[in-house]
Amino acid sequence: MKPVSFDYVVPKSLDAAVEALAAANGDGKVLAGGQSLMPLLNFRMTRPTVVIDLMHIPGMSFIELRGNVVAIGAMTRHADLEFSGLIATKLPVMAAAMRHVAHLAIRNMGTIGGSISHADPAAELPMLAVLYGATIRVQGPRGRRDIPAEEFFISALTNCLEPEEIVFEIDFPVLTSHTGWAFEEVARRFGDFALASIAVSLEVFDDKITDARVAVMGVADTPRRLRDAEEALRGVQGGPEAAAGFAALIRSCVSPASDIHVSAEYRRSLIGALAATVFTTAWTRAVGDMP
Ligand code: FAD
Repeated sequence: MKPVSFDYVVPKSLDAAVEALAAANGDGKVLAGGQSLMPLLNFRMTRPTVVIDLMHIPGMSFIELRGNVVAIGAMTRHADLEFSGLIATKLPVMAAAMRHVAHLAIRNMGTIGGSISHADPAAELPMLAVLYGATIRVQGPRGRRDIPAEEFFISALTNCLEPEEIVFEIDFPVLTSHTGWAFEEVARRFGDFALASIAVSLEVFDDKITDARVAVMGVADTPRRLRDAEEALRGVQGGPEAAAGFAALIRSCVSPASDIHVSAEYRRSLIGALAATVFTTAWTRAVGDMP
């Protein structure tokens, strides 16, 4: 199919883009990498009267270290994140996850701002934003505001943006040293959206977990940080028993739904198996036995 006809606007500044979006009175869509929006337009699942292309706005694609935060411009491509030395050293979970996002051709076009805004419950970057406690920075006609990632994702494909707001930057706090991390996902074919995924970071001092972060996706209609599981990990030591206990805990923390791909029970069992693996890997990294 072809999209319905729409006006195409190419602003040269973020202010002009916000102005054009506000002028569309809720019938406008911003275009970033187009990897999700173009299919939606072609299937007429969205019918905007105006499409505002962010591609030619200078200064929206960058990866910068600012103190203990990595600031990423909304128009930064997935492939730039995948191959960035700064991301590899400062946000290693992201570096590991990026190669699971679709295929290279899509990663060459897709942007972090587009992925976060699209809010697919099985997308890697929204889950990483929740895991790292990222701040999503947006601009609208009344100015700028910062939204914690956990408040940004409302339900599948729905975020908390006002219709005239645009994401311009996402800030990821860097994990402390003594922190081990791991990311795992399972998809039917390489490049497909994941059936389920889990990412973990464990801070370890004196052979005990002092702080933990746990985020999952594919098992709810938004990515989720599992704070009860994080709390339960405090004071725990690594080892096969602890990994099995963590797997059981994660299975009990999630309530996935059945869909055309797999049953809820399969997804629950899968996330438990992945949980045991990430626990062991993150612990091994935290105690220095693995890079
Ligand atoms: P666009 O498609 O341009 O926009 C997506 C939505 O976000 C639109 O509603 C748009 O209006 C809005 N938007 C875009 N930028 C902004 C902004 N700055 N502020 C506010 N709103 C904005 N993704 C994964 O995470 N994992 C996968 O495994 C995966 N597999 C894929 C497989 C295929 C075959 C395809 C086609 C896509 C896949 N994707 C996957 C999606 C891909 O990562 C997209 O790039 C991403 O979801 C959207 O990014 P984009 O820059 O292309 O955004």
